[in-house]
Amino acid sequence: MYSTDSYENYLNRGIKNLPQTTIAAERFSVPVPRVFVEGRMTVFENFSEISDVLNRNPEHVLKFVLRELGTAGKADGGRIILQGRFSQEMIAALIDDYVAEYVICSECNRPDTHLTKTDRTVMLKCDACGAHRPIRKRYVKKESAANALEEGSVYDVRIEAVGKRGDGIAKVGKYSLFVPGARKGDTVKVRVKKISGTLAFTEKVPG
Ligand SMILES: [Zn+2]
Repeated sequence: MYSTDSYENYLNRGIKNLPQTTIAAERFSVPVPRVFVEGRMTVFENFSEISDVLNRNPEHVLKFVLRELGTAGKADGGRIILQGRFSQEMIAALIDDYVAEYVICSECNRPDTHLTKTDRTVMLKCDACGAHRPIRKRYVKKESAANALEEGSVYDVRIEAVGKRGDGIAKVGKYSLFVPGARKGDTVKVRVKKISGTLAFTEKVPG
């Protein structure tokens, strides 16, 4: 998926960006993902830029995005092209999820961390305060998600809010459901396409 050429570029950029990343500790801000749908594909334009700011291997970020969206995709210069249509909000929510899980130190809330592998456990080590924690195992999240909300199932939901890119947002238990094309106050029937942690990506179904 990710070419070795891009990986080398990443390494070069990583070295170049080291001082900047250290300074960023005080004011860590992740760029807003720039995302647009083109036919049946979704283009995530500033993917490399975001991977750089997170100081993570773009290959790792890409794998996460693909796994969470349950789709295929590939790098294309500094952007990635995903199969299927995904809204800006879905992508932004996934990046937030990635940051919480793979970047931010849970002790001091700083982003100056790196991933290491101890035996078979991936650990997040904080360069600022020295804390380390294991990366939560994804299957635990998936399992608990399946207890309440199921992929493929249809639910009646009420849209409680609208994100800035226009997706309706509904709540079911601990889940936030993204409903493209729904307006605040609407009651709609949605099919859950994909669950990622407490986020659920849905589509409206007639009803
Ligand atoms: Zn820390």
